[in-house]
Formats: sequence, structure tokens, C-alpha cells
Amino acid sequence: MFEPIREQIKDFRKIVFVTGAGISQESGIPTFRGKDGLWRNYDAMQLATIDAFYQNPKLVWEWYNERRKNIIAAEPNFGHIAITELEKYAEVVVVTQNIDGLHQKSGSSRVLELHGSILKIKCTVCDFREEILTEFSENPPYCKCGNLLRPEVVWFGEPLPQDVWQESIKHINQCDLMVIAGTSLVVSPANILPIYAKQNKAFLIEVNPKDTEMSSEMDLVIRDTSANALPKFLSLFKEK
Ligand code: NAD
Repeated sequence: MFEPIREQIKDFRKIVFVTGAGISQESGIPTFRGKDGLWRNYDAMQLATIDAFYQNPKLVWEWYNERRKNIIAAEPNFGHIAITELEKYAEVVVVTQNIDGLHQKSGSSRVLELHGSILKIKCTVCDFREEILTEFSENPPYCKCGNLLRPEVVWFGEPLPQDVWQESIKHINQCDLMVIAGTSLVVSPANILPIYAKQNKAFLIEVNPKDTEMSSEMDLVIRDTSANALPKFLSLFKEK
């Protein structure tokens, strides 16, 4: 599977992983597209918006409460674990679109969360923020200041946290290998990260059972799931 790069592997010193919902699919967390993208007949992509939240905060909170419960119970899979173990052999940075915290739970030390975290909440108006690992009795929940609380995630149409974005670009400009795993690369602006890496002459590998918008830009495409493919990728480093 990774045979074409066996000889090159010793040259890769800094690796940036760009991950998306697909890497957590084998931990039992549904993705947003395909057959997984429905919750009680609602389209996940339409629920993850600020408009949906203000139209029906109770419904959006119900969805997030259910997802958070599932995520807290989930465990990292062989894909997450392989990325964590790779830190023994190379400099590794994970830039993730996921909000599930599974890279951190697996033990990865440098994780940049582009889309925030389902394990955090913030006030829609004041500066209040909190980590949240339990259920709310109140739905929708309100802040002490009287305004609605929301999950600290980036919804479709919202800007990314600029400090996390800048930090991601810095690492991408320095990497010599980018591995893009479990993302459809249709969500902007995360989908331009491979272009930055390519401009910088990094080698690009895609791990995804399906074609993506950018498959043709990749130097190597692995058509397999991340829990199958990434441990094999790790073994190349162990052998070198
Ligand atoms: P996406 O749903 O658009 O695409 C998922 C991709 O993963 C697809 O290309 C699919 O072919 C691939 N895939 C499915 N199973 C896989 C597997 N086992 N191994 C490897 N690849 C697999 O997800 P996206 O690109 O991350 O973008 C959607 C948005 O949804 C992001 O903003 C993300 O934050 C959010 N989201 C996050 C989670 C999570 O935190 N786990 C879950 C759902 C959605």
C-alpha cells in the first residue's frame, strides 16, 4: 500500500496530518456526508449553522447533547493511535476539523482544532467559556448574563479561530509531508491547506476509501480506511 514511498520515508522529518470526520468514523462517530449525515431526518449540514441555532436552539442543543454523549463514550481507533505513536519517529502536528477530542484522548501532543470542540461551551454574548463533560438539565441553556449558551464549535459560515489557523499555516509551511485522512475536503477554508503544503513542495498523501475533490492533486492516494491504513504507514517508520 505504501510501497511507493518506502525509500523516501527517512527523508520525512515533519509531518502534518489534516484530519476530518472520517478518521473518527471507526470510533462510532458519524460523518456529515453520505448515509451517516442524517439525524432524526434532519440534514446534519443544515443543523450545524448559526441560523438553525437561533431558529430552534432547543433542537440544535438536543443534537449536540446526543453527539457529546456519544463522543465522550467513544475511544480512539487504530488510526488515531498510529498518529500518536508516530511522534516517536518524526515531528508530528495534527490539524483537525474534528470537534471530538479523540486525537488528544489518544495522546497526540500537538493538536490544532480548526473547528473548536464539542466539549466546550461559550456564551453567545459575553466572554463566558467552560469545559462541559456532563449533560445539561436545562435546554436550551442560558448564561448567568441572561443570554443563550452555545457549543464552542465553528458552524458552517462562521470564521475559524484565527490563532489556530495561523499556527496551522506556520506548521504547514514547514512540513515535508502532509497526510490528509478522513476528510472530503469540501469544507472551506480547511480544504486549501493541502494547496499551501503543495506550494511548499511537501509530499501529499490522501487516506480515504472514496475519491475527494482533491484526489488528483495528491502524490499518493490510499483507498482504504484510516484505521487500516495508518498503522501500515507507521510500520514504515518503525522499519527505517
Ligand atoms: P465529511 O463528513 O465531509 O467527510 C468525511 C470523509 O471521510 C469522506 O470523504 C469519507 O469518504 C471519509 N471517510 C469515511 N469513513 C472513513 C474512514 N473510516 N477512514 C477514512 N476516511 C473515511 O467530513 P469533513 O471533511 O471532516 O467535514 C465536515 C465537517 O463536519 C467538519 O467541519 C467537521 O468538523 C464536522 N464533523 C466532525 C465530526 C467529528 O468531530 N468526529 C463528525 C462529523 C462532522
